[in-house]
Amino acid sequence: PHIPLIAGNWKMHGLSQAVSEALAIDAAARQSSARIALFPPATLLHRLSQALAEAGSSIITGGQDCHCEADGAFTGDVSAEMLKDAGAGMVILGHSERRHGHGEPCALVAKKVLGALRVGLEPVICIGETLEERLAGETHAVLNRQLRASLPEELTGQVFHVAYEPVWAIGTGHIPTDEQVVDAMVLVKSYLEERFHGQVTPHVLYGGSVKPDNAAHLLTLDGVGGLLVGGASLKAADFNRIIAAA
Ligand code: 13P
Repeated sequence: PHIPLIAGNWKMHGLSQAVSEALAIDAAARQSSARIALFPPATLLHRLSQALAEAGSSIITGGQDCHCEADGAFTGDVSAEMLKDAGAGMVILGHSERRHGHGEPCALVAKKVLGALRVGLEPVICIGETLEERLAGETHAVLNRQLRASLPEELTGQVFHVAYEPVWAIGTGHIPTDEQVVDAMVLVKSYLEERFHGQVTPHVLYGGSVKPDNAAHLLTLDGVGGLLVGGASLKAADFNRIIAAA
């Protein structure tokens, strides 16, 4: 088992003042043995990566999405190369807000994963069922399908991570039961074992309404290798308590 990865996904939040928040998070990161990652909006990535590097921080920064191509006529898109150039070490791919908000299919997520690996960014690949799918008893089928189709065939021994984020738990304050979390962790781990035969050892993260008060407990659950935190990662006061729980 490796040290946990505690990741903060800022989504479309944060203006330049947020750099001071990141430096305040760095203070807690220094007291922690966990790997800490921050995913600011693209406009802040360079500034934040630079400020953290200048402070001698070990916090990893990352993008929240990327285009699969290196460059080209793709208005509004950002490539993995550009994220890397701005200081990123990781990139979130296939987040539910991309899958469901922007209609991104698994096949596109898989192409983006290849783009990230092309430049050595560690992809954090998100999967998760909707409430409708869970109620219909389709959770296992959905997670297996998302894993199969979002992890590109070319993937072998590279470093990547998987985040299980039930869509109904994102931003809702609804946390799955311990059994539901462990069940998903077991599914992800057995899928990876079957496909990669122990060649890869990704962090498998839980995400969805992680708060300072439930973080420590979630980290005790079997198979949970870290947390992907949305709202509670925006304020150092909250995120630092989550870091302290790891
Ligand atoms: P919340 O922590 O705000 O529920 O968001 C979770 C998430 O989507 C992280 O990627």
